[in-house]
Amino acid sequence: MEHTTFESFAISEEIVTALKALRYFKPTQVQQEVIPLTLKGKDIIVESQTGSGKTVSFGVPLCESVSWEENRPQALILVPTRELALQVKEDITNIGRLKRIKATAVFGKTSFDTQKSELRQKSHIVVGTPGRVLDHLQKGTMKFDKIRYLVLDEADEMLNMGFIEQVEAIIDFLPKQRQTLLFSATMPSEVVRLASFYMKNDRVSVKME
Ligand code: AMP
Repeated sequence: MEHTTFESFAISEEIVTALKALRYFKPTQVQQEVIPLTLKGKDIIVESQTGSGKTVSFGVPLCESVSWEENRPQALILVPTRELALQVKEDITNIGRLKRIKATAVFGKTSFDTQKSELRQKSHIVVGTPGRVLDHLQKGTMKFDKIRYLVLDEADEMLNMGFIEQVEAIIDFLPKQRQTLLFSATMPSEVVRLASFYMKNDRVSVKME
């Protein structure tokens, strides 16, 4: 099915309205592919450059699927840098505004205790860099038992920055019953290995030109 409007996806009115307020009227190619597959529960590997609209492609289905009533984190998004963590948090907050979705960003070189108290509040979606996320998991300051969605954003960058062991240690904490989305501009063999090890066998690969 062709998805030339956001209304054509199985998403709530609140999200379509929020997207219009952001002046997003037509889904980009990556959004046309990724949003319906994610809503169907598929694990997906997406090879695409930044600037393709990938944040909205996972932000929309995550905001659609998390339950407002559940206070513990239901989705974890791992990113390589604090700048990206803040950007993705802002995008998720904007997309989920009318559903009152709460996103929390956690990253290094900034107060652990401030993040700890934020994580104690309602926090549906956590966006963070691997080192600090692992720190919160190991210290028990971030609940992980309700996480149903994992997004590995800019996986090749996380690899280049030496985060791969931390990423694997984080995944070992998470419930096995979850959906995993992996985004990467390039597909080096380490990223392919990560996908085959931690994602479902019937994962779908999407490549954007
Ligand atoms: P990203 O690839 O997630 O870094 O997004 C690249 C840029 O595209 C961001 O500045 C978004 O605000 C913008 N963007 C994402 N989706 C759309 C859309 N459907 N229509 C117009 N702009 C968009």
